[in-house]
Amino acid sequence: MRHTATPPCEFLLEQLSAFIDADLSPAECRRIERHSRTCGRCAAMIEDLRAAMGVCRQAADEPLPAPVRRRAEARVRELMGRRRRPVQPGAKPRRPPR
Ligand SMILES: [Zn+2]
Repeated sequence: MRHTATPPCEFLLEQLSAFIDADLSPAECRRIERHSRTCGRCAAMIEDLRAAMGVCRQAADEPLPAPVRRRAEARVRELMGRRRRPVQPGAKPRRPPR
């Protein structure tokens, strides 16, 4: 089942970088778990990420195998990309002042 018209949940997007780093504290894990119970969009994705990355696993000491990490990062980037605003045609890239 795909939800192409549904934007990803803001709550989860905020947690995504932590997901990638598998850097969630037990408190954050519980918050996410609780949220996933009330948010169908997140529930599926959290399950997915957890299966792929071992997010919120008990022993978080081991580094993720590179292929697993790459897959999870790609998935996260895909979700983040959907949130990006479309680029205006002809818009010039802004340069930071020196
Ligand atoms: Zn959500």
